[in-house]
Amino acid sequence: MKNEILKRLRYSLGKDADHASVYDWRMALSLVLRDHMVDTWFDSTRAAYGTSAKRVYYLSMEFLIGRLIEDMISNQGLETEARNAMKALGQDFDTIVHNEPDAALGNGGLGRLAACFMDSLATLGIPAYGYGIRYEHGLFEQSFVEGEQMEKPETWLSQRHAWEFERPEVQYRIGFGGHVSHSEGRAKWHPGDSVLATAHDTPIVGWKGVWGNTLRLWSADPVRQFDLASFNRGDYLAAGRSEALARTISRVLYPDDTTESGKELRLKQEYFFTAASIMDLLRRFLSDHDDIRALPDAVAIQLNDTHPAIAGPELVRLLVDEHGLEMPEAIDLARRCLAYTNHTLLPEALERWHEGLLGRILPRHLEIIRAIDDSHQAEHPGSPRILEHGDVRMGELAFIMAHKVNGVSALHTELVKETVFADLHRIHPTRIINQTNGITPRRWLYGCNPALRNLISEELGESWVSDLEQLSALTDKRGDSAFVADFHAAKRVNKVALSNWIGQTCDVQIDPDAMFDVQIKRIHEYKRQLMNLLETIALWNEMRDHPEKDWTPRVKIFGGKAAPGYFMAKDIIHLINDTASVINADPVTRDRLKIVFPPNYNVTMAERLIPAADLSEQISTAGKEASGTGNMKFALNGALTIGTLDGANVEIREHVGSENFFLFGLTAAEVMERRQQPGFSRAAIEASPRLRRVLGQIFEGRFSPQDPHRYHGLVGMLYDHDHFLVTCDFDSYFDTQRRADIAFQSQQSWATMALMNTASMGWFSSDRTIRGYARDIWKTRPHGALLEKSA
Ligand SMILES: *Cc1c(COP(=O)(O)O)cnc(C)c1O
Repeated sequence: MKNEILKRLRYSLGKDADHASVYDWRMALSLVLRDHMVDTWFDSTRAAYGTSAKRVYYLSMEFLIGRLIEDMISNQGLETEARNAMKALGQDFDTIVHNEPDAALGNGGLGRLAACFMDSLATLGIPAYGYGIRYEHGLFEQSFVEGEQMEKPETWLSQRHAWEFERPEVQYRIGFGGHVSHSEGRAKWHPGDSVLATAHDTPIVGWKGVWGNTLRLWSADPVRQFDLASFNRGDYLAAGRSEALARTISRVLYPDDTTESGKELRLKQEYFFTAASIMDLLRRFLSDHDDIRALPDAVAIQLNDTHPAIAGPELVRLLVDEHGLEMPEAIDLARRCLAYTNHTLLPEALERWHEGLLGRILPRHLEIIRAIDDSHQAEHPGSPRILEHGDVRMGELAFIMAHKVNGVSALHTELVKETVFADLHRIHPTRIINQTNGITPRRWLYGCNPALRNLISEELGESWVSDLEQLSALTDKRGDSAFVADFHAAKRVNKVALSNWIGQTCDVQIDPDAMFDVQIKRIHEYKRQLMNLLETIALWNEMRDHPEKDWTPRVKIFGGKAAPGYFMAKDIIHLINDTASVINADPVTRDRLKIVFPPNYNVTMAERLIPAADLSEQISTAGKEASGTGNMKFALNGALTIGTLDGANVEIREHVGSENFFLFGLTAAEVMERRQQPGFSRAAIEASPRLRRVLGQIFEGRFSPQDPHRYHGLVGMLYDHDHFLVTCDFDSYFDTQRRADIAFQSQQSWATMALMNTASMGWFSSDRTIRGYARDIWKTRPHGALLEKSA
């Protein structure tokens, strides 16, 4: 490998070893790792063609991938070789790894799920393509200035992207606007504007390097670089218009997936990548099939949320307008290919587009949506409409055009049936099914936690990495005090490493023997970082009131970004940082309580924090978090959860056992009931002197003395519009935290509980999730055996 790296350095980067920078070395190593994947990747593609296997197409606006070097190395079993080669070349391996930018083409859980799925699809040997957008700028970079969030554009593509192959020959013309002509019963769309979608492929190779799939991301390019005719006529704006449109479409990721933006550009992005993907998969299908009616036997299209829901009308459009099918047959055929994953019940996050806007950008699609809506109405009179009050409702569209609709945790799926799609569920009672989310154990244990990985592998060998349920064998070790001590020691190694990193990045000294209490996720009111902070202040008050008590030392670690336009979330960040300055400087509590908030939470930071966590904060208002996957990463890495009965917490608790989980708070049903009671939050505050005191301190400017009114709005919200019931759950949360304090005092029993978490989390592998999709939705079998069949 050493020679391969030197060769790449010389001939691909044009550098000699004496003058190579860290970047050059990183690129050379990455290119070599990519070379190693290519044969597997070709073999897999050939095997899929050779056996006419059904392909899975995973359409997602977001892929939150993170770094790839370590994944590529460990999945191909090249760890020792790569380390030795870099050492022989006089390079520090870890420095090289940390030079890679995070591919942050996603906001949070939804995009990270898509990335975990890509890893599992390849590991299971299911022929699949991930389709998305190659954003020039991923999720913004966050920094803090005097405690406030600042956003800077993210620039992962400012350097060459090592993993991708650009495919200038794979291009599709994507139209927008214009008009539709009708003649002899046939419609034809004449777009007014168009751009080119160009493919960029990243090979994704699974565990043991047996199978490789493709992540195909589309960039937008102008149809004509520059309209010289317009320019010569003196129309300078028109000359650059199509270029400008093209450049904006794949320019930036929308920095929010929980509120509806209603922006025209967003609709264009959605249509852009969906249309390119549908055209691409049809081309592939037609290259070895003659009968378009066989499409559902060869193609399974999964829509990750409603963002690609225009896939339904687009596929129908191509089948009718280009392939000459009749509308009813086209709708039926499309539906047999399509399935839709719902990710949210938050009403503000359910996409809808004004009919006028959609009709202006996609006039033919609006006609088709009307036809779909009318035919569904004719079959099921009185059913919910796609078009309502001048809006196109993308959830209803996705539902009606899918043969299966899935929720992402058991509780969420039940709520989908009872709330957002209650009426459609009555009409199609077998369409909604559950597929509880999962996480890839390759990244989220094997890769990020070498200390624990090695301990497990010494005990079980390495086959657990692709068969995570084997971890259950560790249950037998709970009485083995030597093993429990080793388990504890592995956690401590990670905590020491994190303490050093926090010392460097946040300039705060923390005690590795304190409880590391971690809440990392997007900042959102429903996720209730605010409740966590209020509890921290309440604890601080009690520590100051009773400094003589034997308090369990704690480090409260926060991480997460707020959407740039989400002012309450930004206030919460500001308050956390303000509070940290006051509390961290208090000589009375300094050795027992610290707050740290390292900026710019991303996948790489998650990989650093999760292995070092003792306590995982999963405290959303019950009924609001669809599943969560952060909760799974923590429990797998031996953190105990403090959490509500929400999302996948419910199933995690069932697996790890209620005695190894700190449960508190109202249930989803109780939340709905409580919200109906007038003045519920004032009543809750009235009943809790502890909470009243904290709110008083914030209101009076105890944490913002230079600007005492800063948090009046925030405190007022808790009194009068506490939509997420922070006040109602506060006392129960505080009491449960004190139970955690006591439990942490016995390190042996805490470590045993932590071990039981790791041992019980096998079911939450995304391999299990993907097997479920393959069995219940796609009707494909995981067949790594395909390779042998075609050989
Ligand atoms: C796993 C993950 C998430 C999702 O976390 P939740 O706690 O489920 O919201 C978000 N961002 C990153 C970087 C992640 O790795």
